Amino acid sequence: MFSLEQYPLNFAPNALEPHMSAATINFHHGKHLDTYIKNLNGLIAGTDYEKLSLQEIIVKSASDTNAKKVFNNAAQVFNHGFFFQSMALNNGSTFPENIAKAFGSREKFMEEFKTVALGIFGSGWAWLVNDKGSLKIMGFSNADTPIAHGLKPVLSLDVWEHSYYLDYQNRRGDFIDAFLNNLVDWNFVNNNL
Ligand code: MN
Repeated sequence: MFSLEQYPLNFAPNALEPHMSAATINFHHGKHLDTYIKNLNGLIAGTDYEKLSLQEIIVKSASDTNAKKVFNNAAQVFNHGFFFQSMALNNGSTFPENIAKAFGSREKFMEEFKTVALGIFGSGWAWLVNDKGSLKIMGFSNADTPIAHGLKPVLSLDVWEHSYYLDYQNRRGDFIDAFLNNLVDWNFVNNNL
């Protein structure tokens, strides 16, 4: 059984204000993520999936056309767990040199990440991934996740509307800027490289 306690916040719900409100955190972590966890537990109860780790569930269900709901909920649990871990406000973390090197500069990385995140049509996720040693920024639709494609996750941004609508309404670009400039915990990112 998976539980919300396995995916704790590293900060108080109001710690990311004004860039991300306590209301957004409380709905997003406390309601949306919790619902994905409860759905997943219900779907895997009494099945072969029950004995697997979250990442194993994602990989197995990705290739099982009868397990689309299992995949969607398991992937969303992983994606959200990763996303909430990747944020911290004013923690003094410095932008990783390896990322600046891979993309030309900090600014070029920010620009490319924003372009990808803005370009996702509808719901989805922007990710920085490690693809066999090379860093890439990729957009994924709906629940899709790097884990399902053999890619190592480094940084994720949730661009489903529930992620920013209370604070930014339709201004996804402003949310992406706030995330990149103020919310990312680059120590966490650096540890994933
Ligand atoms: Mn979300």
